[in-house]
Amino acid sequence: MTESAEKVLQCLIIGSGPAGLSAAIYAARANLQPVVLSGMDLGGQVSRTVEVDNYPGFPEGIGGPDMVSIFQQHAEKFGAEIVYDSATAVDLSARPFKVTTYGGEYLAESLILATGASVRELNVPGEAEFTGRGVSYCATCDGHFFKEKDLIVVGGGDSALEESIFLTRFAKSVTIVHRRDEFRAGVYLVKKAKDNPKLKSIWDTVITEIIGDGTVNSVRLKNKKTGDEEVRPIDGVFIFIGHDPNTALFKDQLETDQNGYLVVDNHMHTSIPGVFAAGEVGDPHFQQVIISAGMGAAAAMEAVLFLE
Ligand code: NAP
Repeated sequence: MTESAEKVLQCLIIGSGPAGLSAAIYAARANLQPVVLSGMDLGGQVSRTVEVDNYPGFPEGIGGPDMVSIFQQHAEKFGAEIVYDSATAVDLSARPFKVTTYGGEYLAESLILATGASVRELNVPGEAEFTGRGVSYCATCDGHFFKEKDLIVVGGGDSALEESIFLTRFAKSVTIVHRRDEFRAGVYLVKKAKDNPKLKSIWDTVITEIIGDGTVNSVRLKNKKTGDEEVRPIDGVFIFIGHDPNTALFKDQLETDQNGYLVVDNHMHTSIPGVFAAGEVGDPHFQQVIISAGMGAAAAMEAVLFLE
């Protein structure tokens, strides 16, 4: 859809993860007739998550894509309009705020920024070259390509462990390479990983190079304590080393912290009145679906108050 610049929306939501879609539900129920710009992936990171098993109401867990679909239906039921487009520029210098997308231009009296965060890369030789050819950042998307293969997972947080456990459904073996000698992940996942016979760990070790011939066939590992190096044959490398907030669009317009996250107060206000932020773009600490959804709801409630 190309929105004519004359029409001024009451509320434009940038991003369609749990924060954006929850904001849409609340804004739509308050009759703000919100438009949601989906971004590249409807649902954001959750759409690439195997299973969410800590969201209230789903004691058996729910697949990430299924959760996104339910959130979407819920937002649309109350009248939110989801547009499959991405913001390419924002002008926050005056109200109504101006948002340029690939498909057009939007003017809005209030904005809810829910652009989330993107996977972090290792930045080692071979990583870019073999992405999609043995290097992956998404177990849900690529795990089934590695049936009976030997895999390495990099990282030591919840994502690394959760996705490693998932990958053991397909792979012959999964070896977690972590740069320290203990996991950062929560105790529940650490225990689940330890109990899984297909999972092994290599501690105090980093990958310094990903090697292949068309596709990945080995990695160069370096022990950080001893300095020892080895080249280990491997079929695939999955990287889960955290995320960086998607704030490039707002550079020099909104206050950010030292890691680039938008600074929001506990009412989801950014440094510009009428511009609210929710979810991981403004949450360096929790980064949970439930928290992002709550932030989205709060941001929409504050947008309603602001517009009143
Ligand atoms: P994270 O908690 O930030 O963990 C990132 C991991 O990658 C850390 O172990 C870190 O090592 C390692 N790392 C970072 N940069 C690295 C580099 N350049 N080279 C090698 N290793 C590197 O990220 P996450 O696991 O994606 O989780 C993000 C947030 O989502 C967290 O708050 C997490 O609790 C949450 N989450 C929760 C669940 C769940 O509840 N089921 C599932 C997924 C994610 P160090 O430990 O040495 O820093």
